Amino acid sequence: MLRIEGLCASYGERLVLENVSMEVGKNEIVSLIGANGAGKSTVLKTIMGLLKPTSGSILLDGDGIGGRPVNSIVRSGISLCPEGRRVFGNMTIRENLEMGAYVRKGSISSDIEHIIELFPVLGERINQPARVLSGGEQQMLAIGRALMAKPRLLLLDEPSMGLAPIMVDKIFDVIKSIWMQGMSILLVEQNAAMALDTCQRAYVIETGKIALQGSADELRANKMVSSVFLGRGE
Ligand code: ATP
Repeated sequence: MLRIEGLCASYGERLVLENVSMEVGKNEIVSLIGANGAGKSTVLKTIMGLLKPTSGSILLDGDGIGGRPVNSIVRSGISLCPEGRRVFGNMTIRENLEMGAYVRKGSISSDIEHIIELFPVLGERINQPARVLSGGEQQMLAIGRALMAKPRLLLLDEPSMGLAPIMVDKIFDVIKSIWMQGMSILLVEQNAAMALDTCQRAYVIETGKIALQGSADELRANKMVSSVFLGRGE
């Protein structure tokens, strides 16, 4: 579904992604793991059109989308749930969800119902401002908002960040159920253990380059991944 080949991207003069190649298949969960500042969010920003690639290609079902404006990329079927959630605190939960559907036409009430089925707590508080939600609930809202664009490919940037372990488990359960409903997912995570437990395949990025790739089992068995990302000493 998504094929990235030889992708390079920079902030000003500084090259941050160097020759990144990755794939996400239809109805696959693929994780991208790496240390702070390795370039994980930049991969997602570049796919989403928030940062223009300096070279390389990004193909969605064979169509080149690299460098297109964000609204065109959302319309083509990709949606981003950003790092740090970025919900609109003064808007209600319903209004936040409606914002996620801004690029498309037609009735959205049945889609809001679907999000409420996934996250019942959002339904209970649908007319409250988003700022009163806990961090975990805001993460649910951010995922719900991204789903309102009706993507084929969902990009999730650090959904576990700053959440209590019980909430992390809940968020990952929902990620799995969204996947079981047919979604393709690219998951960026620092929580490598959760990411590898959830995905089929994963890539490891180090200072802007893909250092390793393989099935979740292969990466779990890798010495470097095990000691650096899973905290298992020699
Ligand atoms: P984290 O887990 O901390 O978010 P990351 O792997 O997602 O890390 P990126 O946010 O992609 O890393 O950042 C990659 C590099 O690009 C880092 O060195 C970062 O400081 C730099 N960077 C990120 N955003 C910008 C920006 N807007 N302008 C300049 N440099 C940036």
